Amino acid sequence: MALNYFDQHGHLTDEGIARYAEALRQDAVDKLPSAMVQHIEQCESCHGQALDLYALIADADYSALGALPAPQATVRRLWILRAAAAAVLVMLSWLAYRLSAPAPPSQPVVKVETPVDTIREDSPGRIAQPDKPATPPPAVPRETTPQYADASFYTPADNMEGMIVSTMRSGGFEVTAPANSDTIARTEALRFAWKNAPEGELTLIILTNKEKEVHRSSVTAANYYSFEGKLTPGLYYWKLEDASDLLHVGKFYIR
Ligand SMILES: [Zn+2]
Repeated sequence: MALNYFDQHGHLTDEGIARYAEALRQDAVDKLPSAMVQHIEQCESCHGQALDLYALIADADYSALGALPAPQATVRRLWILRAAAAAVLVMLSWLAYRLSAPAPPSQPVVKVETPVDTIREDSPGRIAQPDKPATPPPAVPRETTPQYADASFYTPADNMEGMIVSTMRSGGFEVTAPANSDTIARTEALRFAWKNAPEGELTLIILTNKEKEVHRSSVTAANYYSFEGKLTPGLYYWKLEDASDLLHVGKFYIR
């Protein structure tokens, strides 16, 4: 019988808690199994539950239940207590959620500050814009402004400059476009043209001013090549080779 008062973890069962609470109410704790009293004295959890239940039943009218309190009625009260405790927990969780809610909105605020800084740097005139939909506009200056502003994209490559001089002297073959050091708008078609090239496959290579190859195409039986891609503004070199020789090295600017 006394075993029913303890669960598998050694804590009091609902019946055990109810029994203890009843004993408190009847001032009969000394009549409880000593194991139960010992556990209650050591266990904060069981002790707390028993005291809570005692508070709940202390004022209850037991006259209808007769001299012997029905354990089931007390256990039912324990469940009511637990339901109330659960409701309080739900309420506390909700409050905790509400209190922590300001944290997520703070992230968008941080995000908003970044484009504002960008606008300030790139186009001071736009600071006054209160519009938040102005998220795409900052992307445009952010993409293009550094490209135009970065002087390192225009630094000549000494090695390539020397090659331009030597190939300008090669006879027979002649490049007609682009003119050397020509400046071509980024939106313009970039067309390379020549005449009197050797027969066979030609290779056209475009390099940055840091001699990094950004494009390579094979041209056969044609005296021109149209570059379809878009180059970042800056200084570029280009080479035209056949199977054995470097035919031409030129340079051009993209703005
Ligand atoms: Zn316990």
